[in-house]
Amino acid sequence: MTERHYIFGPVPSRRLGFSLGVDLVPYKTCTQDCLYCQLGPTDKTTLERKEYVPIVEVLAELREVLREGGRIDWITLSGSGEPTLNLKIGELIPEIKKLTKIPVAILTNGTLLIYPEVREALREIDLVVPSLDAGSEENFRRVNRPYPELSLKKLVRGTADFAAGFSGQVWLEVMLLKDINDSGDELEQIARRIKTIRPENVQLNTVVRPPADAEARALDHDQLRAAQKFLQSQLVSIPVEIVAGFSGKRDKVMNEDIRMAILTYLKRRPATLGDLSATFGLHRNEVIKYLGHLLEEKKIKERLSGREKYFVCSAEENPGLWG
Ligand code: SF4
Repeated sequence: MTERHYIFGPVPSRRLGFSLGVDLVPYKTCTQDCLYCQLGPTDKTTLERKEYVPIVEVLAELREVLREGGRIDWITLSGSGEPTLNLKIGELIPEIKKLTKIPVAILTNGTLLIYPEVREALREIDLVVPSLDAGSEENFRRVNRPYPELSLKKLVRGTADFAAGFSGQVWLEVMLLKDINDSGDELEQIARRIKTIRPENVQLNTVVRPPADAEARALDHDQLRAAQKFLQSQLVSIPVEIVAGFSGKRDKVMNEDIRMAILTYLKRRPATLGDLSATFGLHRNEVIKYLGHLLEEKKIKERLSGREKYFVCSAEENPGLWG
């Protein structure tokens, strides 16, 4: 198999089964710098749309992966940043559709849906999963730390305009952070914004993977259930579900050899997400899945050094490593 630059996985995903990831921008090219971003901090947010990665090469890699066969439930435009920043996304989607009948999804922060050309570019896709993590402008700035020209009002307007003219599905993801956007008042404002967007469903999440900033803390299961109950009472006909996993059980499709290899590596030395991605030849998003599970199992811990986050084996796993 030749080296892949833009296609990764299939990654086991709670919502999309075996999801083949397509990465359309370089690492952390994004309009936002979310507090909870599992990829780490965005050095500089941007609104500049261009062909960050060549679509011709993306399609060539995709063709090859599809030829290899194997189970793929969704082709998902996601990855290292905001995929709609790639100017050629509107040309890519119909080309993917010509290659395969596998449905195509996009995970987007939704900020660029303010532009009619971006809404038009996503017209042929099957599923759009945009985000809404705040009910107030203040919390939008605090949680999503967007490019200065962006606002929550614009984000909601753009997402609502898109959803109104779209024939596919819109699943709206809401990331809740403890003591930041989970108050009754904030949830009420979030519900009001969701009513404007009118998605097919609302998916509540919280930080169960390593976040960018230690300030981003998870709600526990009971708190998430309470938020779900409250939002459901406000939204009535729009289903609200919890997508964050608390079971601590590993995804059935998680590769045990890779999981053990990462753990063994961390027993010997601390490593960043980028180190592990380079060492194991895996996309950062794949490594994050394994790290998330190892963190949930308390087999590893996070250590901050400046702005760089390291993963280390927990004291129980290796008492001698860092006393
Ligand atoms: S979570 Fe998504 S939108 Fe937020 S900074 Fe990370 S890549 Fe960008």
